[in-house]
Amino acid sequence: MPFTSLGLQPALLASASAQGYAAPTAIQQAAIPAILQGHDLLATAQTGSGKTAAFCLPMLQQWLAAQHGSPRQIQNLILLPTRELAVQVGATLRDLAASLPQAIKVAVVYGGVSINPQMMALRGGADFVVATPGRLLDLLQHNALRLSAVQTLVLDEADRLLDLGFADEIKQLLALLPPYRQNLLFSATFPPAVRQLAETLLKQPQRIDI
Ligand code: AMP
Repeated sequence: MPFTSLGLQPALLASASAQGYAAPTAIQQAAIPAILQGHDLLATAQTGSGKTAAFCLPMLQQWLAAQHGSPRQIQNLILLPTRELAVQVGATLRDLAASLPQAIKVAVVYGGVSINPQMMALRGGADFVVATPGRLLDLLQHNALRLSAVQTLVLDEADRLLDLGFADEIKQLLALLPPYRQNLLFSATFPPAVRQLAETLLKQPQRIDI
């Protein structure tokens, strides 16, 4: 299956091509059309499967179609377990957005470093926030951002998020999000805790088991 059959617009096909992606991976073939159709998603995805582009490409397409005011409202929130993953996903988003007609603002926030530069980075809003849960809550307590305009939420590596003890933080964050939104959950494994989270979070999700 070629990239051109997934429903992506030319600007994003060009982004994929510029990254050297010749053909979509299995998870991309399944996830990209489902996300563009607005479904919630419950996806089994290992690192190395191409899962990051599987959610970044359709989220960028939806972002291009949306209105952007000033200050920018956070429409896309990606929660993940570690600083390394946050940096990596932020870089993929920026790379895939590099040649788009509109300039994107991606804020990447994680714990273990000073909070002040992250507060500065969030001034004036952002289009995408890529975050570890604890630091995101800290930033919310500092009024550094609002989550009331989030349209799409990703939980990436949900099993590791729960293994690292982020269940409470996720619960607190979910309470701050608007009720009508798209939810995308990616996990390498599905222990009972992830299943339970998926049940409370997802509405009639499409299941992808690659
Ligand atoms: P991920 O599973 O998201 O961590 O991606 C693993 C690696 O696969 C990254 O280095 C991506 O740049 C690369 N990648 C993602 N999608 C494709 C594709 N369609 N073709 C070739 N490489 C890809």
